[in-house]
Amino acid sequence: MFEFFRKLFGYASEADSPTEKPKSEKQVGEKQASEPAPAPVQASRDEIKVSPANGATRYVVLGGGPAGVIASETLRKMDKTGDILLIHGEDGQPYSRMAIPYYLSDMIDEAGTELRKSPGHYQDLGINVQHGWVEGVSPDAGNIQMRGGQTVPFDRLLVATGASAIRPPIDGLDLPGVHACWTIEDARNIVRLAEPGTHVVLLGAGFIGCIILEALVERGVKLSVVEMGDRMVPRMMNETAGNMLKRWCQNKGVNVLTSTSISKIEPSEGADGEGLLVDLDNGEQMPAHLVVIAAGVRSNMGFLEGSGIKTDQGILVDKFLRSSHPNIYAAGDVAQGPDFSTGGFSVHAVQPTAADHGRIAAINMAGGNAPFKGSLVMNVLDTVGLVSCSFGQWQGVEGGEQAERVDENAFKYVNLQFEGDHLVGAISLGRTDWVGVMRGLIQTKVPLGPWKQKLMSDPHLIAEAYVARAGT
Ligand SMILES: Cc1cc2nc3c(=O)[nH]c(=O)nc-3n(C[C@H](O)[C@H](O)[C@H](O)COP(=O)(O)OP(=O)(O)OC[C@H]3O[C@@H](n4cnc5c(N)ncnc54)[C@H](O)[C@@H]3O)c2cc1C
Repeated sequence: MFEFFRKLFGYASEADSPTEKPKSEKQVGEKQASEPAPAPVQASRDEIKVSPANGATRYVVLGGGPAGVIASETLRKMDKTGDILLIHGEDGQPYSRMAIPYYLSDMIDEAGTELRKSPGHYQDLGINVQHGWVEGVSPDAGNIQMRGGQTVPFDRLLVATGASAIRPPIDGLDLPGVHACWTIEDARNIVRLAEPGTHVVLLGAGFIGCIILEALVERGVKLSVVEMGDRMVPRMMNETAGNMLKRWCQNKGVNVLTSTSISKIEPSEGADGEGLLVDLDNGEQMPAHLVVIAAGVRSNMGFLEGSGIKTDQGILVDKFLRSSHPNIYAAGDVAQGPDFSTGGFSVHAVQPTAADHGRIAAINMAGGNAPFKGSLVMNVLDTVGLVSCSFGQWQGVEGGEQAERVDENAFKYVNLQFEGDHLVGAISLGRTDWVGVMRGLIQTKVPLGPWKQKLMSDPHLIAEAYVARAGT
């Protein structure tokens, strides 16, 4: 299964995928803020070492996630002499948040989450990786302001600062034992508290919530999931699929409550030493050693306030991923980029989009001319052994048609959404073999011709339709 996800979600190579865990000591830290917390102060922190001006273009990349790392590498390919400064806002080496669940499941250690594993990788490419926290951007002056007051000049700037976990307005969210699951520091806290047999409450059963759910089950905790929507993954799947997923998790021993909210979290001295009491809006209370918050994410762009850079849900960019200022680009979870399905602009907070954005933005920053075709909404989950996915406009489009087949007992489901004779969206549950063909048919906008009616009668013919129509 790990290999399946690796291929889908684009670790660049075997060498860059999470590696098997060589046992090592883990560090423990506390964090309760909603934005990625600044790392403990280091000597280099906020004292960015800037190379002396030598006439080369000065590229500054904000953010050491996949968008920032891939952009820096692409900049080097495009511009052999440019000065590339990559500013990472957290401790340690740039890492992949997507690898955190494997760390939680004990499949990898912290080093296994690093995006690039060969020693000296960045140095060898002449990429200057520095730690620091950006607090402001002055587009016309061509500089950024760091925490601590330092200003760092740029000719071209890429903002790839990602997103952070939203903390809903619930009393008690700042108590020890309540953590988001977004940064490696969050993950360290969860590992410390989520011992086998402990009571854990997970707030949110969205895409990221379900990924965390899987990892928590693997840790052997007693898990309750509280989701305010009427089903699991309400923004990824329809009622049939979301409820099948709920039933599957319940069969695996997870207590899943939908249409339910957490109203308050209190400290408690339970008989079992749980430490927390979680109040639900249905009047029930749950003891917990740990509460994990997975209530969605928000783009990190607060530091652009007053800069004049236009923002909406994310930083507004054109099809070249250029912001409203000609020298400033944006990529990844912070960018509201071209949306393949709608033709508009959306934030698609997933790693494949971050990787594509990083590459395309860098090409354009270095003087290339690469329009981005748009990202396709694509979510694939393995939830305690049940694989589900949704693509594109899975909710359907106005005037469109749909076909579906459901086998509740076997936990198998497929739903296809058509606009004219094109497939524009799909949901599948309980099968992995259709993932590629669904994506292919939607992304290539293949006209289905006579296969449209065949699929309306039997959506299980999707692979045959792909073979017959691909390339037409
Ligand atoms: C637990 C978990 C599981 C996930 N699983 C999947 C999955 O299965 N599939 C998938 O597609 N996606 C998954 N994701 C989402 C995926 O990780 C993100 O979409 C991806 O990391 C976005 O990359 P990015 O480079 O845009 O931002 P990020 O990876 O968030 O990187 C942002 C960088 O910016 C830095 N930064 C932020 N603010 C500042 C500042 N003010 N100053 C300096 N630096 C700053 C941060 O420290 C970080 O280095 C998962 C996420 C999590 C948390």
